Amino acid sequence: MNLHEYQSKRRFEEFGIPIPHGRVAETPQEARQIAGEIGGPVVVKAQVLTGGRGKAGGVKLARTVEEAESHAAAILGMDIKGHIVRQVLIDPASNINQEIYLGITNDRAARKPVIMCSAEGGMDIEEVNRVKPEAIIREHIDPLLGLRDYQVNALATGIELPYELWRQFSRIAHGLWQCYTGSDATLCEINPLIITAEGELLAVDGKMSIDDNGLFRHPDLASQRDTSAEPEPETRAREADLSYVKLDGQIGCMVNGAGLAMATMDMTSIYGEADGIGPANFLDIGGGADAETVAAALRIILADPDVKAILLNIFGGITRADEVARGVIQAFADFDTEIPKVVRLVGTNEEEGRRLLEEAHIPNMTTASTLSVAAQKAVAAVKGA
Ligand code: GDP
Ligand code: MN
Repeated sequence: MNLHEYQSKRRFEEFGIPIPHGRVAETPQEARQIAGEIGGPVVVKAQVLTGGRGKAGGVKLARTVEEAESHAAAILGMDIKGHIVRQVLIDPASNINQEIYLGITNDRAARKPVIMCSAEGGMDIEEVNRVKPEAIIREHIDPLLGLRDYQVNALATGIELPYELWRQFSRIAHGLWQCYTGSDATLCEINPLIITAEGELLAVDGKMSIDDNGLFRHPDLASQRDTSAEPEPETRAREADLSYVKLDGQIGCMVNGAGLAMATMDMTSIYGEADGIGPANFLDIGGGADAETVAAALRIILADPDVKAILLNIFGGITRADEVARGVIQAFADFDTEIPKVVRLVGTNEEEGRRLLEEAHIPNMTTASTLSVAAQKAVAAVKGA
């Protein structure tokens, strides 16, 4: 899960990192009022979960309240790389002498977090890494030891930070590390961390990504999720506790267990390859697939216009196959759909499960006893559609 700039910066502040004290507006009038309360020049900044807002015209300096209002009017509703701007952050403007990059992320290859710093801040760090990798100073952090002072000093030396700023810089780097571990983050980034004309360090941009698997420990962060910024099926899947990833094929797959879901996707890809047919999604409905879960999954699959056939591949283990069958029957009874369905149901009580399914006479449903046959039937159904 990604946090907006204003959310990230407020989180940073909790860890002692200095930020400009602005507020979020949803209308130009609100922007004007906030600018008036701040007094003096402000920056109007699009709050969207993507980078490069500056280049896209989503960050504008306003000297007067009228300008703040008109910039907000221009930025609100803007489409930045497919993200519609619904909020703008109004921050007091800063006088920038230098822009620094400071970020922490996980380095999977090194199996450690890495803190990175560059004097070439402000612009896209991936671009800096591409054209001038030596301009990025990296220090790997031992997760048990944490960030050490000598590492912070190495960063400060590497970017030739004026010595008067070292103490402030150290507080910020340690704060960022505390924020990173204390939030179960996979990214904490300040770009730019500026040196102001007054000789202070200030985090004027912020970005945080939180590991979804750690979110249960941070209800305060979880509640900040901007669901308007994510595809609706993903929101609904998460709310129903389903793992869902949209793909570009035509077979809507509903499977219990991530491994079985992967195998099902592979099989549909293999049998469909010659005809350009494949899975429309990855969907794991989990272990205890009751009627409600099946129905939630069905709703998500049926809402996808690319889906031309549905393949249910369910292994009844702890959840018995007859239970699953009842769930499937009930769910399909609620959806009057002609779409072809192929069901493979095996495991505990499978005979009972299959009998229930046959007796239910669900329109356009066939069953299969092996995954291979089920996948072939699903591919054939798409071809026939
Ligand atoms: P991004 O483009 O999405 O990374 O958005 P940023 O918040 O990093 O803003 C882009 C650029 O706008 C920064 O690199 C700065 O050069 C500039 N900028 C942002 N805030 C201020 C400010 O308060 N004053 C001035 N003069 N420039 C700013
Ligand atoms: Mn930035």
